[in-house]
Amino acid sequence: MSQITDNTAEQVENDMLMLDMLDRFLKTEVKPYVHALEKADEYPSEIVEKMKEMGLFGCLIDTEYGGLGLSARTYARIVERMAAVWMSLSGIVNSHLIMAMTVQRNGTAAQKAHFLPRFATGELRGGIGLTEPDCGTDLQAIRTVARRENGHYVVNGTKMWITNSLYGNCIALLVKTDPSAQPRHKGMSLLLAEKGPGFEVSRKLEKLGYKGIDTCELRFDNYRVPGERLIGGVEGRGLQQILGGLELGRINVAARGLGIAVAALDASVAYSQLRKTFGKPICEHQAIQLKLGEMATRVHASRLLIDAAAQAYDRGERCDMEAGMAKYFATEAGMENSAEAMRIHGAYGYSKEFEIERLYRDAPLLVIGEGTNELQRMIIAKQLIERNPA
Ligand SMILES: Cc1cc2nc3c(=O)[nH]c(=O)nc-3n(C[C@H](O)[C@H](O)[C@H](O)COP(=O)(O)OP(=O)(O)OC[C@H]3O[C@@H](n4cnc5c(N)ncnc54)[C@H](O)[C@@H]3O)c2cc1C
Repeated sequence: MSQITDNTAEQVENDMLMLDMLDRFLKTEVKPYVHALEKADEYPSEIVEKMKEMGLFGCLIDTEYGGLGLSARTYARIVERMAAVWMSLSGIVNSHLIMAMTVQRNGTAAQKAHFLPRFATGELRGGIGLTEPDCGTDLQAIRTVARRENGHYVVNGTKMWITNSLYGNCIALLVKTDPSAQPRHKGMSLLLAEKGPGFEVSRKLEKLGYKGIDTCELRFDNYRVPGERLIGGVEGRGLQQILGGLELGRINVAARGLGIAVAALDASVAYSQLRKTFGKPICEHQAIQLKLGEMATRVHASRLLIDAAAQAYDRGERCDMEAGMAKYFATEAGMENSAEAMRIHGAYGYSKEFEIERLYRDAPLLVIGEGTNELQRMIIAKQLIERNPA
């Protein structure tokens, strides 16, 4: 028992050290450069190199594979802080870690030994290739096919909106290994696809926000992947494997929504005390107080929902309902707080000189990515029924 207590205390201290180090890094090495990087839509290569040194690309990977072995709870706090400074930065780590955790949870011993240490250092970086031009929510409708041939898979198809695919070098790729299987998910598999002949980044996609980070269309033309790169070594488990990873992804996206909501609130609290109208700071007008009160409540409620989901994840419990609630609520909080911050800042909110317009452009992605918020409410409702049979 005392051992458990000691470990927990040590873990808490390590987590706090990590968060302190991150705060310093964000303040000195990221914040001063965000405006220029955002404006130029430039990939933050130098910042990524420092993120590698800090171990951020391996922060959830077990220590035996060279990662930091942090909990999902601590990870959510890391993401919140990053997103409050620049949401794009959290995206560079997030889909990479979903790929890594899919290997850690489902990979063969050889796959874990080969890939996880390289994922942890950031030597191999990447993300997840699920969405296609004709489908996102309905993943079972994908058309990318992997045909088995002489110990390899030969992949043909197109993926769309794949983050980290231009500057990254490896993707967890969802394919159909049996296009005629029924139910459809039984014919779906995940391959670890490292860049090579036949794997083409066909174009970088222009976006409203989420600048700096690479989101691309990918084309696979007779691209060959060695058979041993099939995650888990058994065909037909790909959808299940990636959906397990998406619980973590949704906690992460929720934390990004919270980060935006916090940044919008902090800026509004500061600005509303400085800006005067009709002889007093605008924070003394009741109309502004109502906004600040709602914004702060959304931040607090989001934090509690994310913490509950992350703790359930860390205990190894099924948490699709909790992660769905956190994702839904916190990302809507990001949307609402950024819109309210824009009203509070008046014309300065609309200006490219200040951060509010960036928060306002970044927030909508979060209600779409990692499962739309329509889907999240359907997941919550299904779980409610399942957990409360009549
Ligand atoms: C910037 C960016 C980065 C991304 N990065 C990645 C990435 O790295 N990897 C990746 O694989 N994908 C990525 N995506 C894709 C993202 O995951 C999908 O956009 C998302 O899953 C939604 O799919 P869709 O856009 O095809 O919308 P659709 O599935 O076509 O949905 C359209 C609308 O219909 C609603 N809808 C769909 N089905 C139902 C239903 N049964 N009931 C009620 N409403 C429904 C949806 O909620 C939505 O409102 C990214 C997207 C963006 C914008």
